[in-house]
Amino acid sequence: MLDALETEQADLRSGVTPWKAGLARPSGESLGADLRCEVAIIGAGITGAMLAEHLAARGHGVVLVDRERPGFGSTLASTAMLLWEIDKPLRELAFHYGFERAADIYRRSFKAVEGLRDLIIGLALPCAFYTRDSLYLAAAEVGPAELGEEHELRRRAGLPGAYLGHDLLLKTFGFDRAAALVSTGAAEADPLSLCHALLARAAQQGVRLVRDEAVAFDGTSNSAMVQLAGGRVIEAGHVVLATGYVMPDLVKSDLHSVFSSWALATLPQRPQALWPGRALVWEASETYAYCRTTSDGCIVLGGEDEAIADPDQREGLEAQKTEALRRKLAALLPAAVADVGHAWSGAFGQTVDGLPLIGRVPGQPRMLAAYGYGGNGITFSYLASRVIGSLIGGQEMPWFAHFAIDRPNPQRP
Ligand SMILES: Cc1cc2nc3c(=O)[nH]c(=O)nc-3n(C[C@H](O)[C@H](O)[C@H](O)COP(=O)(O)OP(=O)(O)OC[C@H]3O[C@@H](n4cnc5c(N)ncnc54)[C@H](O)[C@@H]3O)c2cc1C
Repeated sequence: MLDALETEQADLRSGVTPWKAGLARPSGESLGADLRCEVAIIGAGITGAMLAEHLAARGHGVVLVDRERPGFGSTLASTAMLLWEIDKPLRELAFHYGFERAADIYRRSFKAVEGLRDLIIGLALPCAFYTRDSLYLAAAEVGPAELGEEHELRRRAGLPGAYLGHDLLLKTFGFDRAAALVSTGAAEADPLSLCHALLARAAQQGVRLVRDEAVAFDGTSNSAMVQLAGGRVIEAGHVVLATGYVMPDLVKSDLHSVFSSWALATLPQRPQALWPGRALVWEASETYAYCRTTSDGCIVLGGEDEAIADPDQREGLEAQKTEALRRKLAALLPAAVADVGHAWSGAFGQTVDGLPLIGRVPGQPRMLAAYGYGGNGITFSYLASRVIGSLIGGQEMPWFAHFAIDRPNPQRP
């Protein structure tokens, strides 16, 4: 018996982003008959693309299904700062889960960015990829004392980074803030071309891309069934849900909620207007802003997040939010020209502990899912592809529980 796939059919993004489609544009087929495969992945954004490439490389027969153009969901809206630092600082995660577990999670996030870097370089994926330092700036409620404490915890966890006081920060990077942590190990990329390069690689390894909408499924028997809107049925050994913020009801977790986020890209800047090393910059605040550069010297700035899930409301706020971001840019980087080349917005998922939801779907032994991404969603997409690859291969590690879909909410007694 197939259960209906109840989804929030919200528009995932609006506006125009600066990212480029890959040279090899993925083209989907429509199915002329039902089919059987080892693994069916629903969703061909950056998460589905990483899963497809990885599972195919591990020798699995994979079919990838997307109802729209691959990569044109949240992936296209991403500012693609590839950070190992998690939305929740280590000191907050340690408060919820204890130091050892929180440190383990941070180290796994660090390794995920390393793994992603090695994958992109190893496969020579064309996606404007650059390794960068990250700069975590004091802001609002997080001042030098809090950053000092965070630095000490990171050091204890074996993570890289240095504490910069106001004068050294101003001298080295030109940011007039009370303090910052500067760390190695981050990177940036063009998210759309990364997604398309992974899909091209997956296609070379035999992955089939189907253009259709999954409307119902059943993962409770010996094999899983996916009902497509076009009428065909896919029978698979495992189904992996990678539908981004369009999260089916059966995965829903009280840890997760959908917000909206806004971003802009300036026109190309004079090189002197950009900060040394073009580190990824983000603020240590609940209402943080973040910025990076592009390979052609534009500044991308995002933030202004609000607890709005309705796409019309989000789109209606675009002009106001773009202006607010322009003002933030002028305050952060007075030498930059705040002429806007692109402005956009997107749905943005968050969890109460800042960690993704990766693993088995409760009550559906043949279904796995990869959801719950925040500001370092792409890092977690990589992590999800490796966790799910292991689970499908029959290997379960104790640390997978850190990201389990049914883990308890740490804010509930
Ligand atoms: C403004 C903004 C800035 C961001 N900045 C960063 C950042 O700097 N760094 C970072 O790491 N992350 C960032 N993120 C988060 C990151 O973009 C997401 O975590 C990531 O794009 C999610 O990718 P995905 O493949 O899971 O989802 P998507 O890219 O949304 O892909 C899901 C796909 O599933 C398909 N789909 C959905 N339902 C069905 C169905 N029933 N049947 C078939 N297909 C279906 C959709 O068509 C879509 O193509 C940002 C997000 C936003 C909005």
